[in-house]
Amino acid sequence: MKHQKDYNFLQKQILLMIGLSLIPGFIYVILGWFFTGLLPAALWYGGLILVSLYGFSLYKKFNSKKMTKSELAAWYKHLTYFMYIIFSSWSVIFVLNIGYHEHNLHYIAIFTQLGASVTASTLLVSDRRMFVPILLTLMLPLSLYFLFLDTWFGYVLTIFSLIFVSVLLYAANNTNRLIQNNYYQAQHDILTGLFNRRYFMEYIESMSERLMNTKKVVYMLLIDLDHFKTINDSLGHDIGDKLLQEVSKRIDAFSKETHVLARLGGDEFVLVSQEIEEKDYSDEDAYAFAMNLLSVIRAQYTIDGHNLHISASIGLHEITHFSLDTKNFIREVDIAMYEAKSQGRDGVIVFNKDLSKKVERHLVIEQKLHQTLHGNKLHVYYQPQFNRSQEMVGCEALVRWFDDELGTLAPDEFIPIAESTGLILELGSYVLHETFRNLHAWNEKGVFIEYFSINISIRQMIDETFLEEVEVMYAYYFAKLKENQTIVFEITEHVFAENMALAVRNMNRLKDIGIIFSIDDFGTGYSALNYLQELPVSEVKIDKSFVAEMDKSKNSKNMIATIISIAKNFNLTIVAEGIETEEQLEILKALECDTFQGFYFDQALAHDAFEQKYLGLSPIA
Ligand code: C2E
Ligand code: CA
Ligand code: CA
Repeated sequence: MKHQKDYNFLQKQILLMIGLSLIPGFIYVILGWFFTGLLPAALWYGGLILVSLYGFSLYKKFNSKKMTKSELAAWYKHLTYFMYIIFSSWSVIFVLNIGYHEHNLHYIAIFTQLGASVTASTLLVSDRRMFVPILLTLMLPLSLYFLFLDTWFGYVLTIFSLIFVSVLLYAANNTNRLIQNNYYQAQHDILTGLFNRRYFMEYIESMSERLMNTKKVVYMLLIDLDHFKTINDSLGHDIGDKLLQEVSKRIDAFSKETHVLARLGGDEFVLVSQEIEEKDYSDEDAYAFAMNLLSVIRAQYTIDGHNLHISASIGLHEITHFSLDTKNFIREVDIAMYEAKSQGRDGVIVFNKDLSKKVERHLVIEQKLHQTLHGNKLHVYYQPQFNRSQEMVGCEALVRWFDDELGTLAPDEFIPIAESTGLILELGSYVLHETFRNLHAWNEKGVFIEYFSINISIRQMIDETFLEEVEVMYAYYFAKLKENQTIVFEITEHVFAENMALAVRNMNRLKDIGIIFSIDDFGTGYSALNYLQELPVSEVKIDKSFVAEMDKSKNSKNMIATIISIAKNFNLTIVAEGIETEEQLEILKALECDTFQGFYFDQALAHDAFEQKYLGLSPIA
């Protein structure tokens, strides 16, 4: 396949070649009129005009963006004919004039033939299949002419002309190689040899132009490798690079005949199917293709003696002329890929409008969260916790957001967004100030909550500013905390993996000032046991999903019993959350849980309500 730019370059040469033929060609008509007879020259020129018209029509017809691959190939074939014919016509006029020694026309013929050769080697330099045969057919008659002069200078000129054509060929070949190299580098990724992002964007643009006017469809796959960074970090970039090359090879081999493949950067690849008639397109086929590709990627790799496994998250999107209108399809396939990531990776997600709504809502929430953090729409609520004798011994601070337009937003919805955008740091800082200030105020009023739990995101735990903030504020507010009073930071277990070492160091730092740690949603992550060993925790919170299932399935009950006995072995306090019924409470008590929290007792209450109901404080009038 030729490069897009080759075609564009060649198209421009058509007009030049027409000009360079018709103007000097006309001089031959005048010469014919004076010396050799008008008819042959005029006939020749008439032919030249016809060929030029043919060339001009090719020039007009060309539109690299709208033409399909096969249309381009056909156009190129015609262009080759055009160039062969128009250059050959210069050989014809050469032969017609070379005999006229008496009027010195042979000088002119020799010069124009040399001129045509130089022209061919420069105008057609991008295309070896054109300039090589054309140069040879132009120079051959000249060399033969010199040879047949049968004089000593004729022989010298024969040799010189052969040297001349060799130099032209050599120079054109060199330039051609440079140009092709340049094109190659501009369009390919060095590591994998696949097309690069730039080529892909150009391809998408021309593809869009083609689809716009047809009933054809393509589908696009955005492929992002899962946890590639971990391989890079743990085994080194060398192995990472080799893995990327292997993955590229596999995707390429799997899709070569039917798709265009590019590496967008890092561990992200994109595949675009060939253009398919709407009636022949089926969602199922596209999905099956994506699933098969996924299993090809998933198969084991052996690199430098390491057996590696990697999966991918794939976004799949069908593109018709409708989706082209919005110009959003690249963003949309991105959305689908991210959804695959957030649904646990190693899967294929097909883009649909609901997904895009979800993303829009995300964006709205993200924007609003910025404003909200600076307004007064975030509140901290407190949910009471009880001991085995059902006395209130503590509370968990839970953030609430009431928005004028969006209504009440659940933390389950906005906390992940805050986490993914980094806003969690600001939000967490707000919650920290609010809770510390309130706990301090309650202490000042003489009521002492024993366990005061705050949810902390892992992003906070690895943030130096946050740590310093905690240290400073802790020293400021709780210099004289009561003996039995403890501040608990709850951290969700499945987020530890990536920054384990740093998190542990920072947890120990805060432990030194008196804060204890609790593993939230305990039991839902993968390697709970590991964590218990490595993290400086004092408490686990059994996830509410287990509690909810507990009185329905024996399995869940067994699960909780196991978790509790493990935690007991580690000497941890056990808190159960999400208790909604008396039975659940009784079972958990029997299993020797220490602390209980849930709607059975109460939900999270606003500051004032909590104060009145549980701390016996009356509102300030
Ligand atoms: P979580 O830490 O597991 O908090 C417990 C959630 O369970 C709370 O939901 C609470 O209202 C709810 N809950 C309490 N008792 C019951 C019950 O009996 N039944 C049921 N079905 N649910 C109960 P909420 O307040 O919506 O919080 C959701 C999550 O948002 C929290 O889960 C926590 O992970 C996160 N979150 C809340 N506030 C903060 C915060 O200030 N910072 C951070 N980083 N995360 C927070
Ligand atoms: Ca919690
Ligand atoms: Ca929880």
